[in-house]
Amino acid sequence: MAKKMLVIGEIRDAQFRNVTFEAIAAAKGISSGGEVVGVVLGEKVSNHANEMVAYGADRVIVVENEKLAHYTPEGYAQALNEVVNKENPDGILLGHTAVGRDIAPKLAARIGSGLISDAVSYDVVGEEVVFTRPIYSGKAFEKVVVTDGMIFATIRPNNIAALEKEEERSGDIESLDVPIMDLKTMIKEVVKNTSTGIDLSEASIIVAGGRGMKGEENFSILYELADVLGAAVGASRGACDAEYCDYALQIGQTGKVVTPDLYIAVGISGAIQHVAGMSNSKVIVAINKDPEAEIFQIADYGIVGDLFEVIPKLTEEFKKVLV
Ligand code: FAD
Repeated sequence: MAKKMLVIGEIRDAQFRNVTFEAIAAAKGISSGGEVVGVVLGEKVSNHANEMVAYGADRVIVVENEKLAHYTPEGYAQALNEVVNKENPDGILLGHTAVGRDIAPKLAARIGSGLISDAVSYDVVGEEVVFTRPIYSGKAFEKVVVTDGMIFATIRPNNIAALEKEEERSGDIESLDVPIMDLKTMIKEVVKNTSTGIDLSEASIIVAGGRGMKGEENFSILYELADVLGAAVGASRGACDAEYCDYALQIGQTGKVVTPDLYIAVGISGAIQHVAGMSNSKVIVAINKDPEAEIFQIADYGIVGDLFEVIPKLTEEFKKVLV
């Protein structure tokens, strides 16, 4: 049966996060020929609506309000509640990002729905939708079937391919006026905390450093390599605890969960809590001087050696072919 699916878009630094387009692709598959409705929230965001159409949305609802200029759970929940009540969709998808993880349970509670969080894939089996999501820190996967009620899920970035962008796709764009009551939280300033422009959770290449880096100043060799590869820089908690870098870079069970095409682990031992955040990377390269390091058990390629010799050589070689 054809379904109406709502996709909540997320804009950061004046552009959509890629996972918005991935969620549209998933919604398209789940809708089985039904309607995919994009939602854009913010202050001056109507110019973004067409991009959702280009990636496959049939219709886009734009909710503009100065109180939505920055994300607040209160403001977004009010606005989205209105949209859901008006549209009465069969399902809602959004990215499993910091914002998605925050707003989805709140919205689910408001609309009286269940929620499947952190889905990495989906299947449509007859009338049912089956989501796959990691459990036990990525050591196993469970399949969750939506048998009744709203299909509400957050989608992990980098796991479901977005559709090709087609500028000539057409779709209706509507603006919806939603009164937002006074908010109890006021965002005065947003301070960016990542050291490269590339968002870790959506990066296709990540170079991550561990305690083996031996000092904050040595992270510069990782940034040089990352620069050549167009990669984001991440870290183990060991490196963050040792104050070599900011906790914003931490990957793992208590840090960010990433799924890049290529993950280069440098001077990282491979503790289970780190692996929980990166084991689903498509290709893993480990560089460690200890041949017994656990990271080699999950690595596709391993280099046993001193990172201070290996990394500059890699950078030099990549420069020859990439720059
Ligand atoms: P180490 O284990 O000290 O490893 C350093 C590695 O560098 C070693 O393998 C060594 O052989 C190698 N090395 C040293 N010098 C060189 C050199 N010159 N060249 C090449 N290799 C070299 N950790 C996370 O990463 N993310 C998390 O989210 C996280 N959450 C946690 C949650 C809890 C509740 C707990 C208890 C722990 C958590 N940890 C997490 C910590 C985790 O258990 C490890 O302590 C941490 O991952 C170790 O970081 P590391 O691999 O950088 O350091």
